[in-house]
Amino acid sequence: MAGFAPDATAINHLKNFLETQLSKPDGVTIVMKEIAGIANTALNADEVHTIEKANRTVFSMGTEMAVYILYTNGNYSDNNVLGIAYRNTSAAIFGKKVRDNSGGIGQASRLKLEATVLEHEVGHLVGLVDIGSPMQSAHKANGSHCSNQACLMYYASETTDVLGFLITGNIPSLDVACINDLKANGGK
Ligand SMILES: [Zn+2]
Ligand SMILES: [Zn+2]
Repeated sequence: MAGFAPDATAINHLKNFLETQLSKPDGVTIVMKEIAGIANTALNADEVHTIEKANRTVFSMGTEMAVYILYTNGNYSDNNVLGIAYRNTSAAIFGKKVRDNSGGIGQASRLKLEATVLEHEVGHLVGLVDIGSPMQSAHKANGSHCSNQACLMYYASETTDVLGFLITGNIPSLDVACINDLKANGGK
């Protein structure tokens, strides 16, 4: 949405993450398009989906997967949430929430926070944890999340619970358990 463009370094980090974890011999293409902001900025999942339906133009076809990621100009109905993944190929990043909680004095950098949330949501869309990529070992906790606190797919990565960690910590990677799930489902 206008004024909430993705951080270019976070998008680069996401592209590298996808190319590292997934088998995509034809590569990964990221296309960005600005859409109008909205007046009522606290959205629930249904409202996010309605905005997607009005704006999404690219869908999965044949062996090509398309993912739509909406950056909103506000917050989620649950104020602790920074991003969500929904349906098969859709996610939303709550842009104002991410901006308000990164890049300032005493806050994590915008790259760190935005890349963490982006990669966590895409992790759900490629089936983690146990939502399409069958678990190769028991490591599920807090819904469709990883039990390993150091893993990208730990529940905190999409909530304000991750903020303190990221001030000094790095963007979390997938742990061995999650990588093994992806490998068993065609990843690398
Ligand atoms: Zn999650
Ligand atoms: Zn994990």
